[in-house]
Amino acid sequence: QTGANDLQTKADRLVQMSICASLARKFPKVTIIGEEELATDEVTEELIEDGHCEEILKKTCPAQYTGIKEEELVIWVDPLDGTKEYTEGLLDHVTVLIGIAYGGKAIAGVINQPYYNYEAGADAVLGRTIWGVLGIGAFGFQLTEAPAGKHIVVTTRSHSSTLVNDCISALNPDSVIRVGGAGNKIIQLIEGKASAYVFASPGCKKWDTCAPEAILHAVGGKLITDIHGNSFQYNKEVKHMNSAGVLATLRNYDYYASRIPNSVKQSLVP
Ligand code: AMP
Ligand code: MG
Ligand code: MG
Repeated sequence: QTGANDLQTKADRLVQMSICASLARKFPKVTIIGEEELATDEVTEELIEDGHCEEILKKTCPAQYTGIKEEELVIWVDPLDGTKEYTEGLLDHVTVLIGIAYGGKAIAGVINQPYYNYEAGADAVLGRTIWGVLGIGAFGFQLTEAPAGKHIVVTTRSHSSTLVNDCISALNPDSVIRVGGAGNKIIQLIEGKASAYVFASPGCKKWDTCAPEAILHAVGGKLITDIHGNSFQYNKEVKHMNSAGVLATLRNYDYYASRIPNSVKQSLVP
């Protein structure tokens, strides 16, 4: 545990070691940035995954990406997003996030939800993987629009503050959903449970937003930015913290962006 607000469990460490070491072995020139600070040189063989996904290999690579060199990619890894909720047994809030960036932009992402359906009974398939690539689309879920004419905001469950709540109040939403995880909140958007993800606070990092951003954009979502409307950069030199919060929508981005109070913006320096 690194702090009450920033937990780290054995699962966070093992999953990151597995993902980062497996990727580094297959793609040695790629830059991989994981949330946890770990030495990956002492990884045991059983943690190495060397399979590949047939489904992805069947797709045609978009023309704009065929010339990419391995060393031009940055992969952002959150081995366990929603750790606070995980430690409290809210297992379906948990996701594993792998985002791929090129030229500073999120171009592909994977959101694995290992405990999806965990309360759905023994016949239900446990877990799912949502993935997307700009120019190809996103798969592993059913794209669903949020109820028309309703403003449903999804936000943090465990990292609230006066500013977070003031910002939501100013939007005057019909309802507010509080769930853990950045990955899980993007799932709420693409499955029509919520119309905007609003988080007026620092705390969220690049590994939280890279994979979700790629998937949201792959389905034509507009948009994911900080609270000022600045888009995120994912080049390897970028600072990790999204200091000025998060605003994401599948539709009606401008409706929410135009209603963020100036007082909230002034409190959040990018
Ligand atoms: P949440 O919506 O609270 O689940 O946060 C989404 C992501 O941002 C998770 O990875 C959190 O750990 C991280 N996060 C948000 N706020 C904070 C904070 N105040 N301190 C540490 N991590 C945070
Ligand atoms: Mg996270
Ligand atoms: Mg994490």
